[in-house]
Amino acid sequence: MSSPQPSAILSFRRTFALLIVLVVLPSAGLSGFGVVAIINERAAVEKRLEATWQGTLDSLVEDLPTALRSVRFELVEGQPRLVAPGGRLLSTKSTFQVEDKQVHTGDTELASALHAVESSAKDFPAGTSIFSLMVGGRATLIAAERQGNLVHGVRLSQEAVEALLDERSERWVSSSEPVRFVLLARQEPVGEGLMGKLVSEVAQAKANALGPPVLAEQVLPPPLQDFRMGVVPTGEDPVARASTRNRVVYVVLLGLFYVTLTFGVVYTGRVLYREARLSRMKTDFVSLVSHELRTPVTSIRMFIETLALGRVQDPAQTQQVLQMLTQETERLSTLIDRVLDWSRIESGRKEYHREAQTVPVVVDAAVAAFRAQRLEGDLQLSVDVPEGLPPVQVDRVAIAGALLNLLQNAYKYSREDKRIELSVRADRKWVDFSVEDHGVGIAPRDRKRIFERFYRVDNLLTRKTEGSGLGLAIAKRIVEAHGGRITLKSELGKGSRFTIQLPVGKA
Ligand code: ADP
Repeated sequence: MSSPQPSAILSFRRTFALLIVLVVLPSAGLSGFGVVAIINERAAVEKRLEATWQGTLDSLVEDLPTALRSVRFELVEGQPRLVAPGGRLLSTKSTFQVEDKQVHTGDTELASALHAVESSAKDFPAGTSIFSLMVGGRATLIAAERQGNLVHGVRLSQEAVEALLDERSERWVSSSEPVRFVLLARQEPVGEGLMGKLVSEVAQAKANALGPPVLAEQVLPPPLQDFRMGVVPTGEDPVARASTRNRVVYVVLLGLFYVTLTFGVVYTGRVLYREARLSRMKTDFVSLVSHELRTPVTSIRMFIETLALGRVQDPAQTQQVLQMLTQETERLSTLIDRVLDWSRIESGRKEYHREAQTVPVVVDAAVAAFRAQRLEGDLQLSVDVPEGLPPVQVDRVAIAGALLNLLQNAYKYSREDKRIELSVRADRKWVDFSVEDHGVGIAPRDRKRIFERFYRVDNLLTRKTEGSGLGLAIAKRIVEAHGGRITLKSELGKGSRFTIQLPVGKA
């Protein structure tokens, strides 16, 4: 029956809602947590890279003063130059001399920087020294050599020192990441006071954001304290690469997770819904069958009582009662057969004995059984079986049973107009057995469902007509077991046409 039974469906809805809450809510929380983790993840990658490089940086910072101690001054055409052991020139063209307190240089910025620290020749340590000095607001590397009261010195080229660094870094670097070691010079605040400091901090932040990302950095030991040594990537930004990769993996996994989850929820929902509906139908079925059984059993009891009490004396009347008894027992056994049939099909125990059969043999079996039912009303059955039809490879009893069911339905679901046409057509591949009636017809929404087990269209006529909702389900299974199918054309209020299509037998 399709009449709604709220309890089964309601409990199904409650179970399903619980499922959604139990599954979807935690997973939504989990994904949200993942998003937060991904946002925080860039910082984590930066930290990891910094930790990776910090060791190398420590070693290089320690090594730099050693490297710088081995450089020497050369005088070329009276001008001092600083040369590394490998012959690499480290100085720029900007040179100076200090004699007592006198500073001689063509570099005005350098001159004022040296004046500012009020250097005299005595302040320089004996021999070669390298230190950092703020020149023109920017930290600069200076090398000087004192001989008595005379000091000569040069400004160092930062690029040359960085090149030297690169050379020496080779033995410390363990990672395959392409990086460069750079010197980051301290910048002096441009203006005075708080504002000046602010402006220069902003400028610094901007430069940091625009320039290559520094993976790790460390301040150099005195006297080079105005410089920091930093590691910058030369290839693409490894932080960006790692976090992009992680994000892509996360988004893909998240997508997959939700696709599976949606699939799981929809699938489970459907299964649960089907089960709920089926259990409802089964309950309906049990009450329906009990009802259907009670009617013939009651009549049978009545007839037997009548006979037993000797109320019928006339032999003709006795015959009539006996005939009705037969009819009722037939109804009873038909119903029981149908239920047993279904249970056999459901459990896979149903066996088909397929043999090559001619179409008229199958049709005649169904029609004979149909006519034997002594149906009331003005039944007009026309049978149209043309000659020369190909044979079919079928279990005659089973297929005739399915056909009989279509004929019975055509009769049951017709009102006054009880014309029924049974016709057979064939082409090269298929033989079509059609049963057409002019009855109540079937609404589009019910057309598929009437083939489901226990399903009966809910209308006045169905309620008055006996049935189990199993006939078409059994017929469909039988036909499909023969490699065929049942199709339906119907118009509500005008009639229906059921067609069993069977493949042409090879015999
Ligand atoms: P039943 O025992 O109820 O006849 P069936 O499986 O044979 O079970 O049919 C299922 C339902 O399909 C019927 O209850 C009826 O509502 C509908 N139906 C079947 N055949 C016809 C038809 N020829 N015309 C209208 N409705 C039909």
